Amino acid sequence: MQINHEVLMSSSSSLIDYHLHTCCSRDGSGEVIDHCKEAVKRGFREICFTNHQEWISVVGGFYDYAMRNEGWEQHLHDIEAARKEFPMLSIKLGCETGYYPEYLDDIIRFTKRFPFDYIIGSVHSLEGIMLDDKTISGNTSSTVQIQWMRKYFSAIKDMVKHSYFDCIGHLDLVKKHIPRHGDDEYQDLIQDIAETMNDNDIGFELNTSGWHQSPQDCYPAVSLLKILKDAGIRKVAIGSDSHSPETLGQDIQKGLDLLKRVGFDSVCTFSNRVPTYHPLPIQTH
Ligand SMILES: [Zn+2]
Ligand SMILES: [Zn+2]
Repeated sequence: MQINHEVLMSSSSSLIDYHLHTCCSRDGSGEVIDHCKEAVKRGFREICFTNHQEWISVVGGFYDYAMRNEGWEQHLHDIEAARKEFPMLSIKLGCETGYYPEYLDDIIRFTKRFPFDYIIGSVHSLEGIMLDDKTISGNTSSTVQIQWMRKYFSAIKDMVKHSYFDCIGHLDLVKKHIPRHGDDEYQDLIQDIAETMNDNDIGFELNTSGWHQSPQDCYPAVSLLKILKDAGIRKVAIGSDSHSPETLGQDIQKGLDLLKRVGFDSVCTFSNRVPTYHPLPIQTH
């Protein structure tokens, strides 16, 4: 690859994006190399691909949910090739795993098959129903909505008990699908989640995608960020949850500024699932 002046300038940037989907994920587009090109162009120094692995799909027989382009073996091969082509960019292998308590052993077994740097645990479905299904997100009564919200946070609470995941993905994603979003209705669960996360050394991500989706708010909301901060959690990643090269890195700087404002003093990157803490604001060099 021709290394031009623009690329060298970009390599001095400090930006990171730890939540990216490529065309390997059913809902993503762009090859690894397309995302890397954009990352360099936009001045990122480190990115982590976190394609989906969802057991509900595997069990349902839809093995291609995260397995396009010949699956994870091919994805790893693509990342290794990209590392050679973009030596100025740190490129990490991650995974966003859907949490299903009944498949926890399978989830752990899967994540040991590949040299993952970073594992996100996310809840995308409840009781076998995707969160965006009308059963959950439809025009239900407020009582039913609160029940689903509590089910969602109960699932998160269950997930953080296992101290396996590095970070929890989009911690209050339920607000995307259920418009009602009052903290009081699940405050007790949030408090338990934050304390258990701290006890089990599980972090969370500041996911900037919500600013561009129906909640018009990042995940988690500022009120939750404060609870997590007060619980003592320091393991914090940041990601755009971009599903195409065009949206890579969207609002990462805004997210870093917010974390700093709320009182977090660092943001993490991961290698072989070991965090490195970068003081906020991240120094440009
Ligand atoms: Zn997700
Ligand atoms: Zn995602």
